[in-house]
Amino acid sequence: MNTQVIQISDPILQKSDLSRAAEIIRAGGLVAFPTETVYGLGGDGTDDSAAKKIYAAKGRPSDNPLIIHVAAPEDADRYAVVNATYRRLAKAFMPGPLTVILQKREIVPKSVTGGLDTVAVRCPSHPVAHALIALAGVPIAAPSANLSGKPSPTCAAHVIADLSGRVDMILDGGDCEIGLESTIVKVDGEDEITLLRPGGITYDALCMVVSKVNIAPAVTHALAQNEHPLSPGMKYRHYAPNIPVVLLSGESKKVTAFLANEQKTKKCALLCYEEELPFLRADRLFPVGKRDDLAAQAQTLFRLLREADRTDAEIIYAHLPPETGLGLALYNRMIRAAAHTIKEV
Ligand code: AMP
Ligand code: MG
Repeated sequence: MNTQVIQISDPILQKSDLSRAAEIIRAGGLVAFPTETVYGLGGDGTDDSAAKKIYAAKGRPSDNPLIIHVAAPEDADRYAVVNATYRRLAKAFMPGPLTVILQKREIVPKSVTGGLDTVAVRCPSHPVAHALIALAGVPIAAPSANLSGKPSPTCAAHVIADLSGRVDMILDGGDCEIGLESTIVKVDGEDEITLLRPGGITYDALCMVVSKVNIAPAVTHALAQNEHPLSPGMKYRHYAPNIPVVLLSGESKKVTAFLANEQKTKKCALLCYEEELPFLRADRLFPVGKRDDLAAQAQTLFRLLREADRTDAEIIYAHLPPETGLGLALYNRMIRAAAHTIKEV
């Protein structure tokens, strides 16, 4: 398949390009597009065969459900049974990086939901994503636009590397602002939700809107053997570079000294803080941002994991993020990238 790559810098001026992309979606084809979180691989969310094409293009297990993207929060009502909790979440956080799991309606095929009776709904804020969904006139089912098991793509080059020849079109809208996938919550009842995946909407922000916010154990821990995951995605190995990743925890000066010492004896790639640069040798060094700048670290993480994985390193070291604020989303992705390998220094 020949994949067209189109740069979109202005969705209003480039309406004709976006209309062509929307036409591909309506005709059952696949278009990768930028969102504020990561790039998505989109197809018609009401079309069983488009969903199957998405799974095939990514090499994704067909029981790992897709998120459907809508142009306006109210549109969720057409595809899912919404309630007051959804409306409050939507008012507070949509459009934006929040996905809500609700009971699905008949119109959404089971291939989209991985066989489940629930469906994940999100309304992205990125202007290109919004324009594409509105022009398509159908909800867009879209998982992250990476090959299954690779880090999610945060720029068009990552999508091209993974999916060129496997999709009809890639819309290049530059770097994603947040860099980590959306926060996912399941509505449990009136005023109660469970956080299934942390993201740009933090636990604290959710608590301002909903009285009871549970956190699924798999957010911070490995699933126990035989444990039933609340979200199918939890059971799959994710975000894992080929080179083994080890996360370091401990007093900051000690960790920096440990890294400097490891550089002397091993071929290691380091995802370090900017403050550590003066103390480290300059090869295979990937600064993630300042120690306290969690937003910068979120934005760069997946790109740097891809870059570190292309080096000749035998090991990748990174810092264990804090479990607070946006740190919880980083923590959740990093422990997966590291297959839960944490070293206390
Ligand atoms: P991705 O878009 O690639 O980030 O993947 C979407 C994630 O949403 C997957 O990990 C799924 O497990 C999760 N998800 C989608 N639909 C549902 C659902 N109905 N119930 C629980 N989790 C879901
Ligand atoms: Mg994904």
